[in-house]
Amino acid sequence: MVERVRDYFILIGHAWICPDCRQRLLADPEAMLIGHKVSDEERTCILALTDESFGTMMILGEATGLSTDDLREAIDHPRSRLRHLGVVKRRR
Ligand SMILES: [Zn+2]
Repeated sequence: MVERVRDYFILIGHAWICPDCRQRLLADPEAMLIGHKVSDEERTCILALTDESFGTMMILGEATGLSTDDLREAIDHPRSRLRHLGVVKRRR
């Protein structure tokens, strides 16, 4: 079976459930994207995200170009749930 969940999903999914990582993603998106495979389009979406983008799943879907189903899948994915973002930069 092909792993079809993209890094983009995981980034968005984790940022939705983890306020800490969301803050770091919004504050320093370029640093958070290091080590993640995202397309130019996806990168543009991530750089444009704001606090308001995470207001509701529908707003987030519009901001990221993902459907609500995609988002739900991203949020429920074990990789979104188990790992914090930013493998390169460590906190503390
Ligand atoms: Zn996190």
